[in-house]
Amino acid sequence: MLRMNRRSVWLVMFVAAVLLAPTAGTLAQGGPDFAAAIDTEDVMVHVRALSVAIGARPLGSQAEARAADYVAATLRDWGYTVEVQTFETRPAGGGERVLSRNVIATRPGSDRLVIAGAHLDSVEAGTGAGDNASGVAALLGAAKALRDVELAHTLVFVAFGAEERGDPSGAQVYVDQLGARAADVIAMLNIDSVGVGDTLYVYAGAPVSWPNGQDAAPEIGNGPVWVRDLALDLAAGLGLPFQTSPAETWGGYTGDWSDHYPFVEAGIPVAYFEAWRWDGAPNPWWGQETADGDVMHTAGDVYEAVKPAQVEQVAELVAATLAAIAGGAAGPP
Ligand SMILES: [Zn+2]
Repeated sequence: MLRMNRRSVWLVMFVAAVLLAPTAGTLAQGGPDFAAAIDTEDVMVHVRALSVAIGARPLGSQAEARAADYVAATLRDWGYTVEVQTFETRPAGGGERVLSRNVIATRPGSDRLVIAGAHLDSVEAGTGAGDNASGVAALLGAAKALRDVELAHTLVFVAFGAEERGDPSGAQVYVDQLGARAADVIAMLNIDSVGVGDTLYVYAGAPVSWPNGQDAAPEIGNGPVWVRDLALDLAAGLGLPFQTSPAETWGGYTGDWSDHYPFVEAGIPVAYFEAWRWDGAPNPWWGQETADGDVMHTAGDVYEAVKPAQVEQVAELVAATLAAIAGGAAGPP
């Protein structure tokens, strides 16, 4: 048995405290401690506002417009310059033309852009709590934590309209209007459905095609992986439990089904944050949200289904990743 006098005990505790301090996530890339700066209520207040106070937010609806107003007002309160981009769209496969909106909040820096985005619309079933009030909440949590952080490059937060079957989607409209400025975008972080699924993931994006239909293996092109790998490294440093997609299917990439994809097609490096489950799914290329199947797009996608700690952890990792890139500490290899 090891015996120590009182003075030795204090010395051991002091040395342990010094050794353990960096693993608490402080200054992972010389930046602020986002794990300490963001707490559960910083994100869940927005999940409640969008999914309980407003409810389902189908493209072109009054509720989708109210959600855009809420996000715009929140970001303005924190000192961001906010522009609301209104566009015409229609449900894919037919339907009347409607108006939808992207909310674009900017903190000016250099000519180079770092973008984070999440869609604020939902399908009609349920109240769009997981898909995607949770993602908008994580986006806003990161925006709040970064509002006063010194950064080199221009930081942009976008809440997209019309992700759910919009033709065009808000993300497509946003990338189209970027035009030649797409070449100035260092990276885009997409946050979609992070509150309900079993496990937290971050993926890279690549061009994807489905020559044998969507139940068979797709062809996956090459895409830059440094944003994903940066996020995974930061997660490890912060003690946050993130993984990437299975080697036997997507191999660290993801599909073509969310707001990141127009950015991929424009040649912009992306990372995609999601809560999902890849083990034991009937279709290994789709996976499933939980062991009992998908909650998204069902009546079960309500506030009570969202796990606050997951939304908080995504906000922390998104903030840390944005700070590393926009601060100039990390970038393409
Ligand atoms: Zn979604």
